[in-house]
Order: sequence, then structure tokens, then C-alpha cells
Amino acid sequence: MEIIVGKNAGFCFGVQRAIDAAYDLLKKDNNDLYSIGPLIHNEIVTKDLKSKGLIEINNNDEIASLKNKRVIIRTHGIEKEVYDLLKSNNNAIVDLTCPFVSKIHKLVKEYSENGFKIIVIGDKDHPEVKGIVSYAKEDIYVVINEEDIRKLKIDRNDKVFIVFQTTTNAENAQKLVDILRELFYNNKLVNTICNATQNRQDEVKILAKTCGVMLIIGSNASSNTRKLYEISKKYCQNTYLLNNIDDAKNIKIEESVKVGVSAGASTPKYLIEEILNNVRNEF
Ligand code: SF4
Repeated sequence: MEIIVGKNAGFCFGVQRAIDAAYDLLKKDNNDLYSIGPLIHNEIVTKDLKSKGLIEINNNDEIASLKNKRVIIRTHGIEKEVYDLLKSNNNAIVDLTCPFVSKIHKLVKEYSENGFKIIVIGDKDHPEVKGIVSYAKEDIYVVINEEDIRKLKIDRNDKVFIVFQTTTNAENAQKLVDILRELFYNNKLVNTICNATQNRQDEVKILAKTCGVMLIIGSNASSNTRKLYEISKKYCQNTYLLNNIDDAKNIKIEESVKVGVSAGASTPKYLIEEILNNVRNEF
């Protein structure tokens, strides 16, 4: 069986940086270390971090009660109010927000202060998008499809600034941008889909067009992994999303089929290898 693993599969630079820093902090110092929400969207990794002492905080009461602690901000970033609260409570903040996300925060703040209405193309319920929204003074809208765009209460003559969630599907985003540009002629756009996402999506598209089976390895909870799955499925019907080794056991692949493999930005290399070993041994 021929198995082709995408060059970009697995941890992106932002995730690698956050993971390295978290393990390093846990090793160096025995004092409690907290993370606001899961550090990355991969249960296998977050479980391991937990076993080594990282304490995950998930609700506002717990966040408000953190005082004089070491607190990690995850790659997606957090809402500005939460950041300010942690700071005013004298916590030692280790800000591991990915620079690509911080850049969006700055852009949104700047354009919002300059009177632009902000449109974010992305998932309004995703923590990264909630963080982005919190940096606007007012008038910020999140759209994920054409229907959302049609509901926008923005005047045609208003100044509009468009950005993207870093993991947005580039093809879908382009369709939405075309509609937005027709509706709001006074627009300014910065493509904030991160390189790591773009490279993976491009690679998956090429692999999916030429392979009989596609395996996308990563967590269902990971936005960029789900996008890879969606893109792959469009070009290769036999696309499987594998969260873990058990998922790999349930699929059937014929010996003669060429298998393409990619993995989300929060998927560790050892999980990719473990699953591929299983696939090789099974067939
Ligand atoms: S997917 Fe992109 S934005 Fe998200 S952590 Fe990785 S490099 Fe940063």
C-alpha cells in the first residue's frame, strides 16, 4: 500500500511553541500553572499536560478567583476583558497567543477605532473568534455563510473592514468576500488565514485529488482539522477523520489503493505515527 503523508501534517509553529513552553514551565517550577481553556484542541495532548500538573480553568467564576498565579494564555487567545481581569488580579501571565491571532486583535482594534464596521469571516462560537470580537470598540459582525451576510445591518456607504478567523476554509471565504465586496464598496480587507492553515489546505486538496483514500488525523474539536476534513471530502469521497487509534481500526482500505494523510495543526507527530503503523500492520 502506498501511503503519502503531507509535508505540513501535524503541529504548526504556534502550537509547537505553546506546547514546548507549557512543558518547560511545568518542569522548571512546582508552583501551580493554569491554562484558560484547553491549551490546544487535542484531548490526548491536554490529558498529558494535565497529568503533569497543568490546571485547566473553564468558567468565569474560576477565572475571577485566580489571583497571584501563573496563567497561560492559549494559542487562540482570550477575550480582552478576561485578559484585563487576570492582569488586575496580579497573575503572572504567560501569553502564548499565536502571533497570527495577536495580529488580528491589533488590526481589529485599530480599524474599529478609526470608524470601520468590522466583519469577521469565521465561527462566532469559536474561542479565537470570541477573542477577536472583544478587541472591537463596537460594530463587529461575524459571518460564516451567505445567509449571515444578507442579515447584516450595515449601510452600503459605511467603511467596512474584513478579516478572517485564522483557520477559515480559504475557498469558502473567497466566495463570501466576493459577496461582501459587492455589497460594501468602501471596504478594506486583510487576509488573516494563517500560513500554516493555508499550506495544509492546499496540500490536502492536491492529495485528495490523487488518492483513493484520505486520512485526516486530529481532534473533532479542532477547527483546522475539521476544515481539512471538509476540503478533503470534497475531492475524495473516502475521507476519514481519525481522532485516535481506535477510529483507525474501523476503516477498511484495499491494498492497491493510494492513501493520502494529513493532520491538523494540533495533532502531535507521535499520534500520526501510531495511527500509520496501525494502518500498515492491518492491511
Ligand atoms: S493554526 Fe495558525 S494561527 Fe493557529 S496556532 Fe497554528 S500557526 Fe497560529
